[in-house]
Amino acid sequence: MFARIKHQLRYWGYLLLKFAAAGLVSSFALWFLNLFWAPQTRLFHLAMGEFSYDLMYTSLAGVWFLFSYGLFYLAVWDHRFRCRTCLRKLCMPIETGSWGHMLRLGRPQMEYICPYGHGTLNIEEVQFPGTVPPEWNEHGNIWDELFASADAANKDSDSRH
Ligand SMILES: [Zn+2]
Repeated sequence: MFARIKHQLRYWGYLLLKFAAAGLVSSFALWFLNLFWAPQTRLFHLAMGEFSYDLMYTSLAGVWFLFSYGLFYLAVWDHRFRCRTCLRKLCMPIETGSWGHMLRLGRPQMEYICPYGHGTLNIEEVQFPGTVPPEWNEHGNIWDELFASADAANKDSDSRH
């Protein structure tokens, strides 16, 4: 139970860390941009005077905004494909389900797995309103379960002899 909370904290903490890094890079970029309009600009602020009068500054500020947005987007996008337990990148995408055999196999999904077997992530192929958000299934005790069934099988065959 505590291990689970610890993993959750680490998982979201790592996202915060990435946000902090993205924020740093983005403010560095703004600082660099403002250098060219110094000394009228305050280095870590969007210079509103220039923003409304200087087309060059306005366009570059627009590029800067897109760049910063992209950084945060990348951080979130990358985070979706990380193991909730060990933060490693998920790998081995396989397609499951089929539109033609939806009742038997379910809707098409991509399934990613942690290289250390902590869990799998299922992402619906088509994201439309009302579909399930990406679903993380933890394989907490996959080995315990396997060994348990092996033990049970052994006991079974013992009792038969
Ligand atoms: Zn893992």
